[in-house]
Amino acid sequence: MKRLTGRRSCPFCGEIYNIYSKPPKVEGVCDLHPDAVLQHRADDAEEKVKVRLETYDELTRPLLAYYENSSRLKKVDGTGEVEDIYSEIERMV
Ligand SMILES: [Zn+2]
Repeated sequence: MKRLTGRRSCPFCGEIYNIYSKPPKVEGVCDLHPDAVLQHRADDAEEKVKVRLETYDELTRPLLAYYENSSRLKKVDGTGEVEDIYSEIERMV
């Protein structure tokens, strides 16, 4: 929930921040573009995220058992730096 509701992005360069885990140096402002006010996407609002997570539980989570039973499920820890997560995925394929 915090990863999604805390997400902010720069309208100029697209850099993604998170007010909880990766805040900009100055609150609400891109580190690279001091004139850019960070944007909060409408679908990252708490009520909309709640619906998205419920949809995941209902429609996507059941697929875990399907792929696990066919030994095609690979698990990745999605917390941490994006580059580290990406590297871990690359090592698996
Ligand atoms: Zn920027």
